[in-house]
Amino acid sequence: MSQKSVLITGASRGIGAACAAAFAKAGYRVFLNGRKSIEKLNTLAGKLREQGADCEALPGDVGNPAEVRQIFDKIRQICGGVDVLVNNAGISYIGLLTDMTDDDWDRILQTNLSSVFYCSRAAVPYMVSQKSGKIINISSMWGRVGASCEVAYSATKAGMNGFTMALAKELAPSNIQVNAVACGVIDTDMNAQLDREERNSLIEEVPAGRFGTVEEVAELVLELAEGHLYLTGQVIGLDGGFI
Ligand code: NDP
Repeated sequence: MSQKSVLITGASRGIGAACAAAFAKAGYRVFLNGRKSIEKLNTLAGKLREQGADCEALPGDVGNPAEVRQIFDKIRQICGGVDVLVNNAGISYIGLLTDMTDDDWDRILQTNLSSVFYCSRAAVPYMVSQKSGKIINISSMWGRVGASCEVAYSATKAGMNGFTMALAKELAPSNIQVNAVACGVIDTDMNAQLDREERNSLIEEVPAGRFGTVEEVAELVLELAEGHLYLTGQVIGLDGGFI
């Protein structure tokens, strides 16, 4: 069987980097994307190659359709397309809705939601030609229940959940499964702004009594990629019982 390939957006650190390591270990050809931290992205790609993985860094802003086209042009030249797309790149915005500027709103919409459209649109034709494929969207529990002072972020993740459910129906006849993982609080840079007190009070709200780890997210993402052909259109909570 030929080697499977995966594109992971936002793979320079956090959940994306853990997914990259898990897919590399499972023998996939891994394409790593990130926008700003290019050095980190290249270092991770180099490290995975040293461990024997087939791995390539493809930097670019996935919220920009022209840059997504360039990323997929390179992938097409290398191996035709990807068998698995992990839409993981994301940013948060914490603050009152009334303090958000038009630019803040546009930036979070482009990064968290439009990117999912641009990347999925580019990935699907190859998957259809193969009559198989997986799209896994990294969503949030806030997309299901909403978070105060994170209205835009919650809206992008709710949009991602709707996108997941609808695209799953469109692609099921082509044997392509589309699912989302709605993460709870995962210990990454995204939560680095929390001070000790905020961290502890948040942990108290999690029935499991701790934050999730990036490895736990990667484990579920890889499992969704590897099998479960009848599981599609689902928004799977991974939140330690938070919701
Ligand atoms: P991090 O901030 O640690 O990492 C985010 C990644 O996204 C980085 O690699 C960053 O790269 C990349 N990125 C940001 N903007 C762009 C862009 N425009 N184009 C390409 N890459 C981009 O976040 P996490 O690992 O915590 O989050 C990953 C995903 O998981 C996000 O979608 C987030 O919403 C979701 N999530 C996280 C939770 C958590 O508690 N951590 C909870 C629920 C969901 P660079 O800096 O180089 O641009």
